Amino acid sequence: LVSRKKKPEDTIVNVKGEKIGDGNPHFIMGPCAVESYEQVKQVAEVIAEKGLTLIRGGAFKPRTSPYDFQGLGLEGLKILRKAADEHQLAVVSEILNPNDIEMALDYVDVIQIGARNMQNFDLLKAAGSVNKPVLLKRGLAATIEEFMYAAEYILAQGNSQVILCERGIRTYERATRNTLDISAVPILKKETHLPVVVDVTHSTGRKDLLLPAAKAAMAIGADAVMAEVHPDPAVALSDSAQQMNIPEFHEFMDALLNKEKKK
Ligand code: PEP
Ligand code: MN
Repeated sequence: LVSRKKKPEDTIVNVKGEKIGDGNPHFIMGPCAVESYEQVKQVAEVIAEKGLTLIRGGAFKPRTSPYDFQGLGLEGLKILRKAADEHQLAVVSEILNPNDIEMALDYVDVIQIGARNMQNFDLLKAAGSVNKPVLLKRGLAATIEEFMYAAEYILAQGNSQVILCERGIRTYERATRNTLDISAVPILKKETHLPVVVDVTHSTGRKDLLLPAAKAAMAIGADAVMAEVHPDPAVALSDSAQQMNIPEFHEFMDALLNKEKKK
């Protein structure tokens, strides 16, 4: 079902009017984790100011260590929704548990399935059974074929509103947090009809590489770019080192949007 051989035309995922896959660049920006209303409100304001319509933020955080901040859960989803509604933004947020999918429908506009859950088949089936766009991230060490099969699980349940997200894979290279597999973008665009987004924050794990990675993603045909923004990254409860602060976010967006205008 994900194959372009079966469906030659591009799938466009409409997220509250933002048509991901329509050939224009889209941006999914926001904090790593929802920490407080004040924090999300500040980010929502600048996203809206830049003319963007999507905000991301984790309420359920899949942390490597059980002792790290696990997210605010339902309270986090409520905070995101409130801050997003104040600026007519659409919410992208990760759900970890299949039993939380129904509950999440009231708060999120896109259900994110994280890298660590790419092969959580019960979660894929649950997300495939609802009428809500799904952003599926590539697994930590998943091949492109495994990634496409994971998406197939969602489509097989009847939900074809799937956005694929390349977020880097684990290799021997330690200069970046993960290795951004930029060639996965044209391969996924060729093999499937689904929109493809590149997460430059989790793939590079380096602030100095966010802009060049985003430019590369757009140049190679990605439909959207995801990156993390926090009002005060130094005190962030997760991914403190690689989130942009607000001035950096403005610079990042200006560089990308001006570049697009010149084309
Ligand atoms: C995230 O986007 O918040 C996240 C946890 O990313 P990943 O699943 O790609 O590690
Ligand atoms: Mn993060």
